[in-house]
Amino acid sequence: MAHVLVNNARKDYGAFKAIKGVSVDIKDGEFVVLVGPSGCGKSTLLRMIAGLEGITSGEIHIGKHVVNELAPKDRDIAMVFQNYALYPHMTVAQNMGFSLRLKRMPRADIAARVGNAARILGLESLLERYPKQLSGGQRQRVAMGRAIVRDPAVFLFDEPLSNLDAKLRVQMRSEIKELHQRLRTTTIYVTHDQIEAMTMADKIVVMKDGRVEQSGSPLDLYDRPGNLFVAGFIGSPAMNFINGTMTPEGFRTADGVVLPSDRTMAEAVTYGIRPEDIRLDPAGVPVSIVVVEPTGSETLVVAKLGEQTISCVFRERIKAKPGDLLHVSPNRPTIHLFDREGSRLGA
Ligand code: ATP
Repeated sequence: MAHVLVNNARKDYGAFKAIKGVSVDIKDGEFVVLVGPSGCGKSTLLRMIAGLEGITSGEIHIGKHVVNELAPKDRDIAMVFQNYALYPHMTVAQNMGFSLRLKRMPRADIAARVGNAARILGLESLLERYPKQLSGGQRQRVAMGRAIVRDPAVFLFDEPLSNLDAKLRVQMRSEIKELHQRLRTTTIYVTHDQIEAMTMADKIVVMKDGRVEQSGSPLDLYDRPGNLFVAGFIGSPAMNFINGTMTPEGFRTADGVVLPSDRTMAEAVTYGIRPEDIRLDPAGVPVSIVVVEPTGSETLVVAKLGEQTISCVFRERIKAKPGDLLHVSPNRPTIHLFDREGSRLGA
């Protein structure tokens, strides 16, 4: 079993506290994504699980063992890094088999494992090439192949796609997800890209300043973000936050526009609405267009609601120019209310 449990882990670098009491429970076979802005501590946490960083206090369990004191090679993990770190003087096959040769595995067994991983990753025709003769995506696949041949209990990925161009990133994203569906190996994946997190994860752990802000399934976090940080981080374009106060008629913005709300919690000072949850509605509130960006499938409109700027994503094509008025309404069930501390109000 490769259940991974991080229990109240801390990491201090001198006086600087990089990880401030983090607990994460990763079930056997789960694909968990650690996500957060630069410097939040996600790579540090991954490296602590890998054994590449010591742990100041707390416990890390992999399977039945507390691994705090175990060397990386004894943790039954395989890590895939951002920069692949392939050996330039070795062929693809040699790169993939290298860790097994170190373990003195018989040649025939190495060949079988490398062959199997190559088949899974579509690398069979490239086994005799050198890294410099490969594309970025192919190198990334070899790096994954090196992890797969070891048949570890846990895969750890540290921003593995960040050196690839946008199109390849999307392709590799689904390849990694498919690979996980096939192998069902417990996987912990670090990224700063919330779209990667949303599309790949069984469970997302959102981090900020060395702490976990919220964890849950992608759609849980999207539908019920627990605070303003998570609400603004998950979803693209980001959720609109509109300041104001709650009145019996609805949420009154700082500019005096009243927005409809089914819930009328008195503590609400921020009204959150996702751009895709705003629709055109002749009976809605007027907004003044700033920018119209058609993408073909939809139209992104940046507009002023009083003095506050909001983004809207419409399925319709919009023929309008800056300064024109549109009338819009929120899809009521999807509004989010937050209190003065930035905590979510209600379910
Ligand atoms: P990024 O997305 O930029 O890689 P991250 O969330 O992965 O960010 P970490 O690399 O985990 O962030 O770093 C967390 C914090 O710990 C940062 O503020 C970083 O400056 C600090 N840090 C990391 N390694 C060390 C170190 N060896 N000594 C001191 N501080 C460190």
